[in-house]
Amino acid sequence: MAYRILITDQVDREGVALLEAEPDLVVEEVPTLPVPELLERIPDYDAIIGRSATRITRELLEKGRRLRVVGRAGVGVDNIDLAAATALGIAVINAPAGNTVAVAELFYGAMISLLRHLPRAATSMREGRWDRSKLLGSELRGRTLGIVGVGRIGGEVATRAHAFGVDVVGYDPYVPESRFEVLRARRAPTLDALLEQSDIVTIHTPLTDETRGMIGRREIGRMRPGAILVNMARGGIVDDAALLDALHSGHLGGAVLDVFSTEPLPADHPLRSAPNVFLSPHIGASTAEAQRNVAVEVCEAVRDALLTGDFSRAVNVAAVEGPWHDPWRALRPIMGVTRRAAAVARAILADQGVTAVQRLTLRCAPELAGGREALLAAAALGALEDVVETERLNLINARTLAEARGMELAVGESAQLPPSTVEVSLRGAMQELTVAGTATVGAAPRLTRIGAFRVDVNVGGGPRPTLIVLTNRDVPGVIGRVGTVLGDAGVNIAEYHQARLSEGGEALAAIAVDGKADAALRQKLLAIPDVKSATIVCFADA
Ligand code: NAD
Repeated sequence: MAYRILITDQVDREGVALLEAEPDLVVEEVPTLPVPELLERIPDYDAIIGRSATRITRELLEKGRRLRVVGRAGVGVDNIDLAAATALGIAVINAPAGNTVAVAELFYGAMISLLRHLPRAATSMREGRWDRSKLLGSELRGRTLGIVGVGRIGGEVATRAHAFGVDVVGYDPYVPESRFEVLRARRAPTLDALLEQSDIVTIHTPLTDETRGMIGRREIGRMRPGAILVNMARGGIVDDAALLDALHSGHLGGAVLDVFSTEPLPADHPLRSAPNVFLSPHIGASTAEAQRNVAVEVCEAVRDALLTGDFSRAVNVAAVEGPWHDPWRALRPIMGVTRRAAAVARAILADQGVTAVQRLTLRCAPELAGGREALLAAAALGALEDVVETERLNLINARTLAEARGMELAVGESAQLPPSTVEVSLRGAMQELTVAGTATVGAAPRLTRIGAFRVDVNVGGGPRPTLIVLTNRDVPGVIGRVGTVLGDAGVNIAEYHQARLSEGGEALAAIAVDGKADAALRQKLLAIPDVKSATIVCFADA
């Protein structure tokens, strides 16, 4: 089946060509479409890729009944309703790295332009003047540069600072000490500490609830007299009114802004005429190289998401970190078995009359801790299989949908579990059931525990394997009768694992079978003397 991709806005050819080269992808490039036209066309597409001009609203996402992926050829996703996409199970993919260098280079270009009055110098020359004596500038060397947010762009700014003989201090509570060591930057313990010791403060954080208005009147008041403030991240992080006052009062020596609370910046906006400002119209990423990089980055990721189901680069799937070279590939088998363990627990509880799962708890072996959020999503997916009637149930929205159904989700690690093992517990009103499983790359995924019973059964055979879980009294003859019932129904046994707690007590059989087993077969199994329960789990594709 071919997937249809709509490309709006100007996405670089090199990226688009990458999609066109795939026989299973049909690509349509259109200019930025008016909203009504976009709403009308969107139901026909599996993916949409754009830049910032196209707003991806809840209405658009809901209308896109086939939509699986939204791609943004740029860093931010603030033009996309991320919560709506996540709830609908639509992957949102951006291109976080492609324009890093472009922004870092603009920082130095703009900063030196401000310090050396380059715009005025150039204009005066064009106008026939020779204003040499009026253009006394200052140098970067010896100044302290305070970088708020030492991620990709902040890091590139820091790296280049050393070439200018600049002393670097950074503030970023979300990165480890080692990041500062690599960047040869001092770590400021607080934002205030950074503001108080910097001659130039530059912001390189995303716009979040925490960073909106982060540099307000109080913070500007903490900055050194004559200091310079730079915002090339997002409008709204710096309070415009407070900045204007500080520029006019002379408390700040200047400002460099590439981003604004309102874009385009209104023609009569007071920032345009403020003293000592260098303004540019959000051109941080506007280099040919950056546009090519972000287009290639996002198109590759959208291609992989559609063709191979690799959603690892979506911003709305759980983050995975750990010692693995390719974390998502390394985690795929254990995520598969997690999903199946949850589906088995869910099916057994359902046969016991539990309609609502109140709590899902996932425990994983310690070495899997970096992937626990993704594993929790896989468990939620398994617990919702056959419960949620949505074609869009996937790793992206499983947690949201589970919580929306009142399921409490919890995740932790357990040193008691052997390596590559997970344990999923589902709790209903009266009872709780735990199912454990193990899987590694290249080996068949196996369930290792169902309730109190130790088992060892393959749950990965065939494209849509089926597992039958029986409980019976541990008396002679049951296994033979079960075999006969399955044989008569034409159901082939792939693996049969019998477990018991004590001789003559309760026993459990985990039977992996080829092909489908239905409700009629379940009734026949239940009719066997001494069989107490029978659950059939037809796994959805993992
Ligand atoms: P990044 O995710 O690599 O780095 C952001 C850093 O900010 C992270 O290290 C994070 O820990 C830190 N951070 C988050 N909240 C913080 C807080 N409250 N205080 C201090 N640090 C905090 O992102 P990046 O690629 O470096 O991009 C940074 C921002 O630059 C983007 O979010 C985007 O908004 C902006 N950007 C602008 C342009 C432009 O055209 N002007 C182009 C590209 C990116």
